[in-house]
Amino acid sequence: LHAAIYQANPKAHAILHSHGPYSVALTLDGKDFSPPDFEGQLYFPRVPVVTIAYERYFAEAAQAVAGMLAEYPIVVVRGHGVYACAASLNLAYKWTCSLEHSAKTAFIARTAGRI
Ligand SMILES: [Zn+2]
Repeated sequence: LHAAIYQANPKAHAILHSHGPYSVALTLDGKDFSPPDFEGQLYFPRVPVVTIAYERYFAEAAQAVAGMLAEYPIVVVRGHGVYACAASLNLAYKWTCSLEHSAKTAFIARTAGRI
């Protein structure tokens, strides 16, 4: 999967895959995620969520994720996890942490009835 991402995006020099529980939980509805906080909106106003049937994951994930990461810095695969790619490992890590932070903030705000 990582090789497919590098092939689809020549500017990518680092890819991170993670399983942030807030990012995964808040996107289980399959809808794209829009961070409610300033920093999240600044970095990625819309985070695409890709739905791949679990039984077809290994056959379809590489092409689906690579295609999305050619257009977006970060993508969530519904029910599984997050893929981020960037020009450096530090930036890919920053995208990963920022998304999880925004998802946690959204969870808290929803729980408190603020959004
Ligand atoms: Zn995984």
